Amino acid sequence: SDYALEYPLSPAHMDWASHYPAFVDPDESKLTLSGSRKLLKDVEVADIGCGFGGLLIGLAPVLPETLMVGLEIRSQVTEYVKVRVAALRNQQARLRAASSSTSTPIPTAEEPETTNDQTQEDLPEDAPAIPDSTQQAQSLIPGGYQNISAFRANTMKFLPRFFGHHQLSKIFICFPDPHFKARKHRQRIISSSLNAEYAFVLKPGGLLYTITDVEEYHYWVLRHFGVLDHATTTTNNTAENAAEEKKDDAEDEDDDEDENSGVARVRELFERVSDEELAADECVKVMREETEEGKKVARNKGPKFVAVFRRLPDPDWS
Ligand code: SAM
Repeated sequence: SDYALEYPLSPAHMDWASHYPAFVDPDESKLTLSGSRKLLKDVEVADIGCGFGGLLIGLAPVLPETLMVGLEIRSQVTEYVKVRVAALRNQQARLRAASSSTSTPIPTAEEPETTNDQTQEDLPEDAPAIPDSTQQAQSLIPGGYQNISAFRANTMKFLPRFFGHHQLSKIFICFPDPHFKARKHRQRIISSSLNAEYAFVLKPGGLLYTITDVEEYHYWVLRHFGVLDHATTTTNNTAENAAEEKKDDAEDEDDDEDENSGVARVRELFERVSDEELAADECVKVMREETEEGKKVARNKGPKFVAVFRRLPDPDWS
């Protein structure tokens, strides 16, 4: 349940300083509307449903100057990501301190209060072990993991309260929960109304990355970004699902109409990125190989379906 989740009043109320201490603006007079210190730059990348944080950790050295954040609905998983990132920061800081010949003080990350044991205990067995924060890192990585963080949120609610209009340059939606049954499709985190919200927070030219191992969900993604229509899509639907969908359709004709006009609008906001462009995009490699789900799918020799969409300039809807 997400009843206890807190939402900021607006992006200008977000307290980012506690997430990215190395990027806090040294000018102490610069404060957000909630009274926290401002950062030197905006958060630009969001990982929606970040799970254990593998994507963020993989991307941290690829985009070392870019602030990236994971959003995750499960509280223990969110705490786990915070502890994991803090441990990685500390390992980096220890190595830097040990190898530095200067006396410049190196900021160590402030670890969340949860201990490693408490966090790991509550998690599924497949959660990667948290690095030992008292050890030195094996090697220095660009940015030292200071540029990644996570917070708890239900991303189906109030995304524009976290991020401003055109704030983000990349959104990742990696292996979203499939919610196979037709009556559960409303819980999918890709829909025409949510896609319109993603478009709102993405800047023109920004990219929205998706990956799934469920072929039917891949077609769902393509349909909801308006690059495939229903009739041309093979869904491998089961008889049970088809019957459920029909019942749902009968009940929700109004919803369907909304959905169709929603998709028509979303189609004007995004274009699909070509396979050639994706082949050269390091972020796609990280998304395929560094996410925990991506690793699991690879172990089981399952398929991975990638679709990336570029945010187009705002259309003239006046
Ligand atoms: N993206 C990660 C990866 O690829 O390894 C995790 C994938 S896991 C299958 C889906 C994650 O999305 C889960 O951690 C789940 O708790 C989270 N999630 C599902 N619905 C969400 C929502 N509405 N808001 C935030 N997170 C959500």
